[in-house]
Amino acid sequence: MAVKRKVCVQCHAFVEGSKCPVCGGTQFSTEWRGRVFILRRESRVAAFMGIPQEGEYAIRIR
Ligand SMILES: [Zn+2]
Repeated sequence: MAVKRKVCVQCHAFVEGSKCPVCGGTQFSTEWRGRVFILRRESRVAAFMGIPQEGEYAIRIR
């Protein structure tokens, strides 16, 4: 398995740079489990997780 990617601790989005593109957060974690890809921000999954826009998110962060 590849190196674990980091996720934003605020919105759970996967982040490549030093700032979250979704919420602007700068705190990240590599201790996450599960992954969900939100195709539509109107979806129930997005509403349930409080996700503001389409993209790839971690389900749980330690
Ligand atoms: Zn974020």
